[in-house]
Amino acid sequence: MLSSAWRSVANSVESQLTAAYFRGSIRSSRAPICSFGAGISISKRFLVLQICSSPSRRSLVNFQKLRTVGLRGMHSTLEDVALAGMQVKILPALQDNYMYLIIDNKTKEAAVVDPVDPDLVIKTVNEEKVTLKKVLTTHHHWDHAGGNEKLVKLWTSGELKVYGGDDRIGALNEKVRQNDTFNIGSLNVMCLSTPCHTTGHICYHVSAADDAAADSGAVFTGDTLFQGGCGRFFEGTPEEMYEALCTKLSALPDDTKVFCGHEYTLQNMSFARHVEPDNQLIQQRIEWAKLRRASQDPTVPSTIGEEKSWNPFMRVHESTVQKHTGNTTNPIETMGKLRKEKDNFKA
Ligand SMILES: [Zn+2]
Repeated sequence: MLSSAWRSVANSVESQLTAAYFRGSIRSSRAPICSFGAGISISKRFLVLQICSSPSRRSLVNFQKLRTVGLRGMHSTLEDVALAGMQVKILPALQDNYMYLIIDNKTKEAAVVDPVDPDLVIKTVNEEKVTLKKVLTTHHHWDHAGGNEKLVKLWTSGELKVYGGDDRIGALNEKVRQNDTFNIGSLNVMCLSTPCHTTGHICYHVSAADDAAADSGAVFTGDTLFQGGCGRFFEGTPEEMYEALCTKLSALPDDTKVFCGHEYTLQNMSFARHVEPDNQLIQQRIEWAKLRRASQDPTVPSTIGEEKSWNPFMRVHESTVQKHTGNTTNPIETMGKLRKEKDNFKA
């Protein structure tokens, strides 16, 4: 109860802070920049909440501690994202990876995406009192699939189904292909085959079964689609990445939340700005992401619609992007040239 009240205060502060930032109302880093009724103010630099129920009774709360930040040496805070019918818990791992615990609100059944740190996954599952039944693996690279076997070994509460599209994935027992479907409790999962970064890469689109759901769910994109960028073409071609980003993922509804495999937003957005220096949405997202990272908050999720507006690899049809790649007119050629340039780009 208390923690949800705090979360709601923190979320409110954060959105006000972001809004204030974009309005240009942040001038002094020390001066209070937002005021919430008579009680709460926040200063940008230290992200410290000052809460006073009356002028004589004041207490200072460290904004970061409030949100259980990095005492465990993680690259980002643990955050929850509530969507129609489900909750997505963002779990940081390694240097910049993200794992995700997807919880079906109706049944409390859960699935985990790319559980490279099984200890944190098990701890979170126990704390949340949910039933973990499935592992969704995006691709075989160690920093995504490397925890599968250990998790299966440590998991003593029933059999785990391990999904993936590549025989190189550890503990794989449910191989999937394009358009395969399964469930997480009452949630629907649709598999999108997106070869290029690796030949067996799968993205998972998860949505509430209820047709009247208030949103279009979430897509877990591994190392195919990042915020503002895409994965390297280790085992594929520009045609394949074009098919993945501009045909399959672009076909999802614009409000679909995008949860990618790494915290690479600032580096990717720096390249996006280099490609389209006049795109204001890119500049705004950079400013927002800097604020988020200053307090070690994750920058995920974005949405498919947002990626179409700022991700150069999803904008290979745009004349601004084609001009940047030497007036190419073929979007696949544009894709290839962009990736080559990004491979050598220093943010
Ligand atoms: Zn990878």
